[in-house]
Amino acid sequence: MPNVLVYAELRGGDLRKIALETVSAARSLADTLGGEVHAVLAGATGSGAHAAALGEHGADVVFHTEHGAFAVYNPEALTALIAERARSGYAAVLIGGSARGRDLAPRLAARLGAALLSDVTSLKLDGGALVATHPVYTGKVAVTLRLTRGDDVAVVSLRPAAFGATPASRSARVEAVPPVGDPADVRVAVSEISSGDGRKLDLAEAPVIVSGGRGLKAPENFKLVEDLAAAFGNAAVGATRAVTDDGWRPHSDQIGQTGRQVSPELYVAVGISGAIQHLAGMRASRCIVAINKDAEAPIFKVADYGIVGDVFEVVPALTAAIRDVRSKS
Ligand code: FAD
Repeated sequence: MPNVLVYAELRGGDLRKIALETVSAARSLADTLGGEVHAVLAGATGSGAHAAALGEHGADVVFHTEHGAFAVYNPEALTALIAERARSGYAAVLIGGSARGRDLAPRLAARLGAALLSDVTSLKLDGGALVATHPVYTGKVAVTLRLTRGDDVAVVSLRPAAFGATPASRSARVEAVPPVGDPADVRVAVSEISSGDGRKLDLAEAPVIVSGGRGLKAPENFKLVEDLAAAFGNAAVGATRAVTDDGWRPHSDQIGQTGRQVSPELYVAVGISGAIQHLAGMRASRCIVAINKDAEAPIFKVADYGIVGDVFEVVPALTAAIRDVRSKS
């Protein structure tokens, strides 16, 4: 069983970044095993178009199921679909650990009677056994999990942003697969999705995040952060728990241990001290820029670029400089 199965998550008909991260992680595991990567893609009409992107990130085969009942998250029908595929023999089933993946992975493990490794940040084979790392205590301790029953399939949920989405220049073979039973005949159905501000970029998908902390002094000063994000043109706004708890920003903007976990190309921390709980959500970012007036602030320990200065002087100057550069390009 050298093959690895992945669930390719869609939301609102779009392929999520976590799906590409999961396929990339599966590719590297399958390469060690000498096997193939097979992806389960289930969505409404037209969803098959995403198979190409899965191939380009390492999938060899995409099992595509098209049905209107997969237009929204359908945990029962998805569990049945992935479990049936998994029973045909795989070394592991990889699920992206998004909110949806955290719901799906235990359902699937229970259905298969399989081991569940959750919130995994690294995965490898060691002497034929699957070995995974799982951080605890806000990343202070890394637990190593070793699967001792190597013949059984394991379900592994991957922490978002822990595995990059790596292009693999492949082209996947697509197989149309019927649903298992009637996906519309389920006990749990999503009847409505209410998303906050539809115009806002999702923190998990944004290539740039500008985040603000208590150093901004007052909620109205978040305008500085919003202006900087707008200057980039492709940035989302995040926040620390200190400011979401104070009601300056919605809780959905919170980044950290008890908030969102992100890994943008660029993370700009504005007036953020860099508490361990905040770092737990953003230290996987590709490039971190910190602006803080305290040169000893812990955020500078993880920053690639640090500006020691007052946010009220530095941020407007940075915003103007970025607008200037973008207006000329
Ligand atoms: P502060 O720590 O108060 O830092 C403000 C920073 O602004 C300081 O470094 C200061 O030097 C700087 N500053 C002040 N004025 C200026 C200025 N004019 N110019 C430039 N810099 C300035 N926090 C999270 O963010 N996310 C979480 O998910 C999270 N989960 C938690 C879970 C638990 C169980 C606990 C106990 C805590 C959690 N926290 C979390 C809270 C965390 O411990 C910190 O309290 C919080 O991150 C601090 O937010 P902050 O950096 O905005 O504020």
